[in-house]
Amino acid sequence: MIKLKTKEEIVIMRESCLLVGKAHAVIAALLKPGMTTQQVNDLVEEFILDNKAIPSFKNYHGFPAATCISMNEAVVHGFPGTHELKEGDIISLDIGVLKNGFHGDSAYTYALGDVSEEIKRLLRVTKESLYLGIDKARQGNRIGDIAYAIQEHTEKKHGYGVVRELVGHGLGRELHEDPQVPNYGKKGSGPKLKEGMVLAIEPMINMGVKEVSHLSDGWTVLTKDRKPSAHFEHDVHITNGDPDILSSFEEIELAEKGNINLSWSYHNV
Ligand code: MG
Ligand code: MG
Repeated sequence: MIKLKTKEEIVIMRESCLLVGKAHAVIAALLKPGMTTQQVNDLVEEFILDNKAIPSFKNYHGFPAATCISMNEAVVHGFPGTHELKEGDIISLDIGVLKNGFHGDSAYTYALGDVSEEIKRLLRVTKESLYLGIDKARQGNRIGDIAYAIQEHTEKKHGYGVVRELVGHGLGRELHEDPQVPNYGKKGSGPKLKEGMVLAIEPMINMGVKEVSHLSDGWTVLTKDRKPSAHFEHDVHITNGDPDILSSFEEIELAEKGNINLSWSYHNV
C-alpha cells in the first residue's frame, strides 16, 4: 500500500532528508586517500547521533554498519572495514537517518583525486539520469515514466548497464515503502503518481554489463564483470506541480569544490 504524506509530515521528512545531505557533506569535505572505510562510516555515524537522529541502516535486516560503503566494482550494500581508500577509487556512500519518526535516504558516489575520464563520465551520466527521472516525478505520471527516463539516458544513450535486481522505493515512517521504483521500464506503466507520495529515486548504473553478483560476505553486491558502478539517490515529494526534492546535494557539491567550512567538530578521525 502506498502511504501518502500530509503537509505536516513532509515538513518533518524534509528535515530528515536534509540531515542526510549534511552528513554527506562532512564526508565530501574530509574524504582523502589513506582514510579507511571504517573511518568514513564512523564520522557519518557520529554526525547523525550528534544531530539527535538514528542511522537507519544499522541492524536493518541485520546490516552491520551505519552506512553502506561500496567501492569501485561494488554496486551497493558494501560495509566498512580496514580497507584504505586510494587515489583513483570511487566510493558510493549511501546514508539513511531516522529522525522524528521519518527516514531520509540519499546516496552519492565520490571520486578520490584524479579518476579516469571514463569514470568521470559514468558519474556524470548517472547523476544526470537521476535528475531526468526526477523530472518525471509529477502527479498524473506513472512510475514507469521515471524508470524509462533513467534507462533511456544510461543504457540506450550511453551503453551502460542498469541494475535490475535493486530498485528505488517509497520512503516515510519505513525505510522501504511501496511502490518500488525501478531504473528500467516502460513509459506509462506501473502505479500512478499522486500528490503526497515520497519516492527514493536511485539509479544504480554499471559501466559494463547490467548483471551483478554477490560477495560471500552476505551483503556486498558487485558488478558481474567487475567494472565500476555508480549510485546517486534523492528523496522526492510528488506535488501537483514541480517535483519537490527533499534531500540535497548542494553542500556536497560545494564541499567537492573545497568551498565548505565544517562547523561540526568530530572525534573519530
Ligand atoms: Mg539509500
Ligand atoms: Mg534508498
